[in-house]
Amino acid sequence: MNIDEFGLGDWWPRPDQAAAGALDHLPADQWPMLAARWLAAGFNSEPMRQLAQLQSGEPPTRHRVDPHNPRRRAGMFAEPLPVQGHRRHLAALDALDLMPEVLRSIGFDPAPADEEFTARCQGALDIVQHDLDVTGCGQYQMRARIGRGWPATVFATLPDGSYWSGGGGMSRRQDGSWLLVTAADSVSATLKEVHEFEWPVCAVHGGHPKTSIWDGEEPVDLIDKVAWWRCTNTGHALAPVGQLTSKIAKTL
Ligand SMILES: [Zn+2]
Repeated sequence: MNIDEFGLGDWWPRPDQAAAGALDHLPADQWPMLAARWLAAGFNSEPMRQLAQLQSGEPPTRHRVDPHNPRRRAGMFAEPLPVQGHRRHLAALDALDLMPEVLRSIGFDPAPADEEFTARCQGALDIVQHDLDVTGCGQYQMRARIGRGWPATVFATLPDGSYWSGGGGMSRRQDGSWLLVTAADSVSATLKEVHEFEWPVCAVHGGHPKTSIWDGEEPVDLIDKVAWWRCTNTGHALAPVGQLTSKIAKTL
């Protein structure tokens, strides 16, 4: 059986790679095809058969199989139909829900890799937290939380669980200064979008010069491979992320 028949190109992740984060490279609407490939490779479980079945665009068997008549299960292996747009979207959402169960069912739990990823993001957020604390914003305790969707993305989340997912968020392929830039941007975006609160604000120039906080300069940037806060009014560099002081930025 040729892998190209599944539309996955010349590379597809094995289950152990998938559990370690490799699914970030394969859009969720292709996971049913991946499950079909795993079945063909000899892996097998009920959740995996349900996931593979999604490529027909039909709901998983668990919603429609007759438990009193096991022979009806034969229908689940019917020839796949062409996948249509909205069905494909719904199949991707079902695939997101099913995949962790699929991987656990064959002995590859994705939780440890997700926990490692989230902990790495929390490490970056802890550096940003220093800057929140020194500017009088210590009540905003930022926690790393993995969002729902593809690819796996972690957002700066407030203690009440609110966060802003529109700004991108932290991904597995980021590390070092790049991860810190994204962490700082996620913190700033969550405060702005959830509380309409601009942070950080330059002590000399203030925030954005106009009435709206939404049109200012980006608050964080990568300068010579270092994550820096920027003045949202004039755009000059304020301080490296994690080194803000109450003299450089306004305190609450
Ligand atoms: Zn300034």
